[in-house]
Amino acid sequence: MNKIFNMGDIVQMKKMHPCGTDKWEIIRMGADIKIKCTGCSRIVMLPRSKFEKDIKKVMAPTEESK
Ligand SMILES: [Zn+2]
Repeated sequence: MNKIFNMGDIVQMKKMHPCGTDKWEIIRMGADIKIKCTGCSRIVMLPRSKFEKDIKKVMAPTEESK
């Protein structure tokens, strides 16, 4: 299953973070993917294969420009 995602996209993960959100922002892509929790700003690095498996849904990037 091919999932398309890009830097800055918000992804919904299968597992919820302890802070209560399941949405993460992609902040770095490569062999490993770095994602930032949108709830508590914690940064996690995952191997791409695991990341792709744990994605539930790719959402549009946040359009809020503050
Ligand atoms: Zn969190």
